[in-house]
Amino acid sequence: RSKRRGRGQITVYSQQIAQEMKRATQLEQALRNAIINDQVDVHFQPIVTMATGLPVGFEALARWNDPDLGFVSPAIFVPLAEERGFIDALSEALLRKAAEAALSWPRELFLSFNVSSAQLMDPGTAGNILSILNRVGFDPHRLDLEITETAMMTSAETAQRILLELRQLGVRVSLDDFGTGQSSLGRLRDFTFDKVKIDRAFVARITSDRASEHIIKAIITMCEGLDLQVVAEGIEHAEEAEILKRFGCGLGQGYYYGKPADAAATLRYLNERYYDQSA
Ligand code: C2E
Ligand code: MG
Ligand code: MG
Ligand code: MG
Repeated sequence: RSKRRGRGQITVYSQQIAQEMKRATQLEQALRNAIINDQVDVHFQPIVTMATGLPVGFEALARWNDPDLGFVSPAIFVPLAEERGFIDALSEALLRKAAEAALSWPRELFLSFNVSSAQLMDPGTAGNILSILNRVGFDPHRLDLEITETAMMTSAETAQRILLELRQLGVRVSLDDFGTGQSSLGRLRDFTFDKVKIDRAFVARITSDRASEHIIKAIITMCEGLDLQVVAEGIEHAEEAEILKRFGCGLGQGYYYGKPADAAATLRYLNERYYDQSA
């Protein structure tokens, strides 16, 4: 009996896998077309000084709204582009758009851009990024690259070399989603980062779970000692912001401060919320 049920399950699974593969291939085709036709967009979310609520920069977040497939999350299509080998084309288009938009912001604001792990395995990445900045005329000192622990682990030496080359030209590096990967603490010592972004999973639990509160407090204290700036991600409520400020967290990001918005809305946000207050 159990044997028969086992076989039945295998059939169901393999049908599911076949369906998923078909869907992935459809998505891949649509995404490749969207890149060619310049239909992948980029939105911007403010990163603020927690003490004042004023932005110090914006994180670029990829957005793709396909006419047939609807809204597809970057958490789906970025990994797909990595697997299918065209993350470079996608990332180039995104960085170009993001840097072009950021040219209209006040010069002291930085652009934070996510780099995927596949890109950190490719020795050509530093050159690619710099040539895009050059073409757009965007100062590398205003660029911050967000990388994850997984990316550092898969190809540590190449990643190290890419980041060194970029850092020498003034690019800064943030460790994204901190706390979700593996062997986090060692990586903070072995690699040179400028910022650490505490994953939103911790922030979401900070008001309800003592353990998360202690972990965040410890991360902030440790980063202070290591001379690293801390960004808390995913702040949605005033109460979370208050606790984080009390712990000495310098920078924050989340719906409470501002949702990701397109380039035009970002300029309006700056007009309303930045120029007067920071003058
Ligand atoms: P991430 O880099 O950790 O980006 C932060 C994510 O948290 C974004 O999701 C953002 O919209 C979301 N978020 C920000 N504040 C809040 C909040 O208060 N509450 C909640 N619930 N969510 C919040 P998004 O835009 O869906 O992006 C998901 C992931 O996709 C990103 O995580 C990043 O890993 C990847 N990604 C997005 N754009 C790019 C890109 O241009 N290049 C690469 N390589 N990856 C990208
Ligand atoms: Mg990020
Ligand atoms: Mg993150
Ligand atoms: Mg993430």
